[in-house]
Amino acid sequence: QKKSSLVIVYHRQPYEEAVENGQTVFRPNRSPNGIVPTLKSFFGRTAPGAGAWVAWKLAKPGESFERAVHIDDVNGGYTVSRLGLTAEEVESFYHVTSKEALWPVLHSFPSLFHYDNADWDTFRAVNRKFAEAAAAQAEDDAVIWVHDYNLWLVPAYLRQLKPRARIAFFHHTPFPAADVFNILPWRREILDSLLACDLVGFHIPRYARNFAELARALAGAEIAETRPVDPAFAAPGQALSEPDMPRLLRHNGRSIRLDSAPVGTDAQLIREVVERPESRAQQQETRDGLSGRRMIMAVGRTDYTKGMIEALQGFERLLERRPALIGEVKLVATSVRAAAQMKVYEDTQRDIEALAGRINGRFSKLDWTPVVLFTNSIPFETLLAYYNVADICLTTPLRDGLNLVAKEYVAAKRGAPGSLILSEFAGCAVELPQAVLTNPYSKRNLDRALDEALDMPAAEAAGRMKAMEKAVQNCDIACWADHIFSEFEAIGFQSSSAA
Ligand code: UDP
Repeated sequence: QKKSSLVIVYHRQPYEEAVENGQTVFRPNRSPNGIVPTLKSFFGRTAPGAGAWVAWKLAKPGESFERAVHIDDVNGGYTVSRLGLTAEEVESFYHVTSKEALWPVLHSFPSLFHYDNADWDTFRAVNRKFAEAAAAQAEDDAVIWVHDYNLWLVPAYLRQLKPRARIAFFHHTPFPAADVFNILPWRREILDSLLACDLVGFHIPRYARNFAELARALAGAEIAETRPVDPAFAAPGQALSEPDMPRLLRHNGRSIRLDSAPVGTDAQLIREVVERPESRAQQQETRDGLSGRRMIMAVGRTDYTKGMIEALQGFERLLERRPALIGEVKLVATSVRAAAQMKVYEDTQRDIEALAGRINGRFSKLDWTPVVLFTNSIPFETLLAYYNVADICLTTPLRDGLNLVAKEYVAAKRGAPGSLILSEFAGCAVELPQAVLTNPYSKRNLDRALDEALDMPAAEAAGRMKAMEKAVQNCDIACWADHIFSEFEAIGFQSSSAA
């Protein structure tokens, strides 16, 4: 079997598997957005057919299935190597250890850290399976790119299996300060695994600084190189410019490159979709339905980190504080139900639904409902039409690695009026300081942000939106991919090595 020069290790498969007329078929993912198409595009930069992808597939113990699937949708295709996980393994590794123990710590919610059901042996075993599957696909000096915290231990296993591989890791989440991270009983093992990488990536400089400080304090790693932070990413609310960003760590005779690059939206795709006649018609229909009333949008997955409760409470206080707005402003909220049967998400979902119901009960009129809540995912194209129309996008995560919704809202505007209210604790706040920034932990601050956005003179709102559109266009998904690829080259990736 031909080995690969670039192996992407991402827990999800890069296609949808279906059975048609008794035959298994693999279709491209239907959703046009999301990270998968971008990751696949990296295979266009290797020698033809030299890419591989590693993901899990739900399988009964001992069930036989096609381990390697060839997908031919980019540059000669790539192999998807599938490792079987049982329902029990998925539950333990993903729903319990990753979501109940690691996720709350990553998002600085120590009070929700649950350790009792976490099974670290299973977490290790599943990570080891990913590492073995990746090693089996990779050339000795391949770049192996591992994604996200649920695969934190993969680099350490890979380093044993493929000592010469160039191991890169990208965090799609925040990386907390050391005193929060240190809550994890497995902190040293996780850190040592990340220090087995050649490149560790984050969305923003602050997360890289948190990681470097942890590595220094816990493992004695030396911060060997720093660089000034691009002024485009100056942290909001800071009087002084950002401290330098750590660029290189040295530990046990090895160098570990650190990088920060916020994922972008596919600004070009969004522009195209928003300007399609179907979208224009949907925008007009939405505008007509509002009959001159204002529309606020709040979009996210159901997760306590997303701040939907805070957004709804803020909207309720707005109607209490400014009764003239009753009947005049509508909140369109989506809280996409989590697939997993996890109590913490079920509680959040129930609270959101109850709150939306309460607000509607208190303030509805016969011809007007203040909150429209969708709990199923809205198709991306429809969401873009709503973004284009909405006067305000209320994005209030208590903590978020990046938050693509905010960037999509800006990209979908295309000159239409609107204001973005954005939590300081969303990673993308460093890219969008022209938003109406808010601290969603403070009721008073969130109230002020809503008032400011609602009362902002049109010219000022337009000026701010223009600046944000520029940032979103300049730092789109293609620019992110170019940047990451240059980082791969810096750790020695040569696309010709697979030829
Ligand atoms: N999204 C969607 N339909 C919905 C709600 C959300 O397609 O009803 C998409 C949204 O456009 C965005 C993604 O889901 O691209 C959420 O990404 P984000 O970075 O904001 O949050 P995540 O869920 O990755 O934490």
